[in-house]
Amino acid sequence: MNKSTDTKQAISNYLVDVIQDNLFLLTCILKKNRKNEFSIIYLNNAATNFLAKINTVSQALSLENIWNQLPIHTNLEQKQQVLYNFPLKLEDELYVFDISIVLIEEGYNNVYGITMNNKTEEETEKRVLTEVKEKYLSLVNNNLDSIFSIDENGIIQYLNMVTSKVFGYDPVKLVKKPIEKLIEENSLRNFQLMMKQTLSGYATEMQNCLIQHDKGHYITTYLKAIPIQNKEIVTGFHLIIRDTMTDTDEQNQLFYLAYHDHLTGLWNRRALKEHLRDNLIQANSLQSEIAIMRIDLDRFKLINESLGYSYGDELLKKIADRLGLYIDKMSNLYRQSGDEFVFILKGKSREETSLFSESILMELSKPIYLDHQEYFVTASVGISMFPHDGNKIDELLLKADQALYVAKDRGRAHYRYFQEQMNLSFPNEALMESHLRRAIEKEELSIHFQPQVNLVTGEINSFEALLRWNNRKFGYVSPMQFIPLAEQSGMIMQIGDWVLEEVCKQLKYWQEKGYREVRIAVNISPQQFKQENFAVKIRDKIRKYNISPCSLEVEITESAMTDMQDTLTMLKELKDIGIVISIDDFGTGYSSLSYLKKYPIDIIKIDQSFIKDMELDEKNAAIATTIIQLAHSLGMEVIAEGVEKDKQVEILKAANCQKAQGYYFSRPVPIDDINKSYMN
Ligand code: C2E
Ligand code: MG
Ligand code: MG
Repeated sequence: MNKSTDTKQAISNYLVDVIQDNLFLLTCILKKNRKNEFSIIYLNNAATNFLAKINTVSQALSLENIWNQLPIHTNLEQKQQVLYNFPLKLEDELYVFDISIVLIEEGYNNVYGITMNNKTEEETEKRVLTEVKEKYLSLVNNNLDSIFSIDENGIIQYLNMVTSKVFGYDPVKLVKKPIEKLIEENSLRNFQLMMKQTLSGYATEMQNCLIQHDKGHYITTYLKAIPIQNKEIVTGFHLIIRDTMTDTDEQNQLFYLAYHDHLTGLWNRRALKEHLRDNLIQANSLQSEIAIMRIDLDRFKLINESLGYSYGDELLKKIADRLGLYIDKMSNLYRQSGDEFVFILKGKSREETSLFSESILMELSKPIYLDHQEYFVTASVGISMFPHDGNKIDELLLKADQALYVAKDRGRAHYRYFQEQMNLSFPNEALMESHLRRAIEKEELSIHFQPQVNLVTGEINSFEALLRWNNRKFGYVSPMQFIPLAEQSGMIMQIGDWVLEEVCKQLKYWQEKGYREVRIAVNISPQQFKQENFAVKIRDKIRKYNISPCSLEVEITESAMTDMQDTLTMLKELKDIGIVISIDDFGTGYSSLSYLKKYPIDIIKIDQSFIKDMELDEKNAAIATTIIQLAHSLGMEVIAEGVEKDKQVEILKAANCQKAQGYYFSRPVPIDDINKSYMN
């Protein structure tokens, strides 16, 4: 053989091999004689397998079956015929093929070549898809609620029939228009927020959104926005609109309240935890990073206190708006509590997170206008990163909190990442302080009351109010531990105010109920006492609750009385109001009784260290007795603290001490116990 025959042979071998092994194209050559007798000349693998699969007795019979369903029974008029999407019924199953038939040889025997491309699966898929689409469209179209489909730029792509009925618009006029055009000005802020939040992948709601009717008036609506997701990428959202006037079910409103912060419209703490859980699962599978950024405004309490809470709220809304500018698909914003916000940044590296933090801090440092007045706010930021700092929700939030605390402690107005050594250099105390900062808001504080017993008559006409803190992380924390913390950080002002307020409320309650007149003593920290307007605060509280001044007692320690002139002025002011003044923990400071003579003091409370063991330790007993005698000679009453034993009661009685308090009589107890045991 010469070379060209070799090549031809090689090519034809190759083609035969390809056809033989082709997995998709069924290929066969068959012969039919004039008597319509049918025989197979050739089948490739795909054809053999298919014919075997359709389960007929012999391949020739199944091929004959196919042949009989084809519209050509005898000679092909043209030498070739192609049938697209041709349905074949084989063994009760319907198949779809693209079929090509070629008449290879004509004569006594006709030889045909047939290739068949199996399209059954493709066609089924197409059919299912069309059915789903039709079902979906009919669901949307016939829905009782108005539904818009909106793309990620806020452009309306579609609206259902109800929408044009309810809002009066011609659908054609609305498609390709921005949805924001329909939203009333005052609703726009929350609407834009909702849109951003939805585009980050979570269904979001909005209450009381005003949407304009074609005729110009506005309709109050309840909105639900559902992200349209294509392979985890949000490409837009469906907006379901319900006319609030006709809405009888409150389920939606409840859902809204459960996941949104009422003041700012941002997601709330609950949403934060749920979203973070989802985000962590996702980041874990994508092996990407997540940054948790806690943002806390610096000295917000000061603004709140000096401007009042409604301005405080206004300010928080403005801050939320500014931070809201940074919400997008990869960064979601939450209001954690009071003045604390949290960003979750998905798929951001440390460098990107740093840049983000810098822009946030810049944004917040711009002046804020409230009632035409300019205010400046700064914020501190603490950041933890997944997976670097941990993989649990609480752990990451806590670590961001620790980082935030360090930022606050080291001069505020900057951001910090969590570092392991923060656990060491800022042990529990730092963490405790950050928890204490939110104790009031989280309703973790309460007051217990300890009765003060008249040693002569056994009567109880006064109680000491003692603060209690039950924290979710630390459990019950002793005031000996948290009061110094509150004092160091200045939080004591706010906490002290809270205690005063609660005590006045209690006194008022008793007065209204017509209970007998009793007195409550409140512990006052030196810082509180040294405030210039302390007496004014007390007077305002007494007026506010309209209680009799002599039912309130303030306990002041010697350490609060460092400046004699100031102390005297303050004590006189307090005395003028008519409240009772006592010196707490007397004997542990440096002041002498003769020094105290100058002050208008009503009661001396002997520190418990002198009472403890007084029945065994003669020196302690002697000191206590001397204090009692001297106090009496100055016209002051005496209360002994920390009385635990009957022997101590005897000694105190013998020394003419009027009153005592201590575990011997009662521990400090909740108000309900006081009401039950002493007020009825
Ligand atoms: P304090 O004002 O000297 O209060 C008396 C403390 O002695 C209370 O401790 C009370 O529970 C405890 N105590 C009472 N009877 C006995 C007894 O028989 N034996 C013993 N061992 N202890 C007794 P607590 O409640 O732990 O308060 C500790 C301190 O924390 C208070 O000392 C007070 O200085 C401060 N504190 C408590 N509440 C407040 C508050 O509302 N404001 C401020 N600024 N300080 C507070
Ligand atoms: Mg006290
Ligand atoms: Mg005391």
